[in-house]
Amino acid sequence: MSSTEQTLSIIKPDAVERNLDNEIKEMFKSKGFKIVKEKKIQIEKVEAETFYKVHETKPFYNDLCSYLSSGPIVVMVLEKENAVLANRELMGATNPKEATDGTIRKKYGISIDKNSVHGSDSVENAKIEINFFFKD
Ligand code: UDP
Ligand code: MG
Repeated sequence: MSSTEQTLSIIKPDAVERNLDNEIKEMFKSKGFKIVKEKKIQIEKVEAETFYKVHETKPFYNDLCSYLSSGPIVVMVLEKENAVLANRELMGATNPKEATDGTIRKKYGISIDKNSVHGSDSVENAKIEINFFFKD
């Protein structure tokens, strides 16, 4: 069974800083994703802490939240059949060194922390994350 879903994607500071946002958006579009909402913003560290709360016990949590709030990001709602999984596949593994050819992280990721993109990991979390950035 397949169905149209929405997922949240973030182009992270390392990619925006290198002006890769348009190339990454083209990768999404060429794979059939529709970008239904989009904004370029910079968030406060406390907002990053809320967004990544699921990771609060992890050793990388503080650095992760400092990093996500360190510069402009592009936040998007992507729509496609099975968008959550399709986006995870297009992103590639968390560690760019382990990402396979054709994925965003393989192409653009610098390191496990500067891995260029975020994507929701479930339909349930996608709803929470979309609501976090696009309340209205
Ligand atoms: N991260 C990190 N060090 C690690 C694991 C994760 O800096 O050892 C960062 C990385 O930027 C990752 C984010 O924390 O994208 C969230 O981790 P998660 O396991 O949810 O990976 P993702 O869902 O982004 O692939
Ligand atoms: Mg995750």
